[in-house]
Amino acid sequence: MKCALPLLLLTGLVWNSLLATGSDKQASGGKIRVLLTYGGHGFAQEPFFALFDALPDVVYTKAPLPEAADRLRPGLEKEFDVIVMYDMVRGISAEQQKSFVELLNIGIGVVSLHHNLAAHREWDEFRKIIGGKFILEDCLIDGKRYPKSAAIHGQTLNIHVADKEHPITRGLTDFQIEDEVYGPFYTSPEIHVLLTTDHPQNNPEVAWTHQYGKSRVFYFMLGHGPKAWSHPNYSLILARGIRWAAGRL
Ligand SMILES: [Zn+2]
Repeated sequence: MKCALPLLLLTGLVWNSLLATGSDKQASGGKIRVLLTYGGHGFAQEPFFALFDALPDVVYTKAPLPEAADRLRPGLEKEFDVIVMYDMVRGISAEQQKSFVELLNIGIGVVSLHHNLAAHREWDEFRKIIGGKFILEDCLIDGKRYPKSAAIHGQTLNIHVADKEHPITRGLTDFQIEDEVYGPFYTSPEIHVLLTTDHPQNNPEVAWTHQYGKSRVFYFMLGHGPKAWSHPNYSLILARGIRWAAGRL
């Protein structure tokens, strides 16, 4: 009898917490809820969104930036598991930047794709969020001078799996992909590199994980257009990256 009341309380607490998260999960059918940002750079919209339509365990909501930038604030973590960023907006307001950092300090998954490396060019904190920066104007970072990065289309990249144990890249073997190359760009010393390339005009780092505040961040440099998106490893890595950022891999 002594433990009956605490057990009852505990059962009630567990049930309540299940109910609290249950309603959100029910709405998405247990799928990972993604807020997908884009804007500030052209892209082939139909095949890009088709790529996300085909991800079996993802439901997504489009968030064009900078129009929808007010959504990136505390509270979003209750509506979405992961923000996938494919935007290359020049900037959002100082207040929106502050709210976004507050959200990341609470915790939400972040997957940053391709030209998102060049987004928020004047906001220094953004390179600390995603762990890298495409340099649009010569600049100093941590006392080191970085010249302008270049982007070249239609290149063949040999992709090497640098971490064969990580859940995002486990079981993958080295592969070739036709895509755009970027380089040289800034990478944080704190990133954990998953994929590399030996392409002379690209940084060695192609995909990495990073932590910012309480948020898991996955950056994936590939993905300029349909040629890259249609590579079987592209959707596989994207799907795993989303799952990992959501804490479900
Ligand atoms: Zn591109």
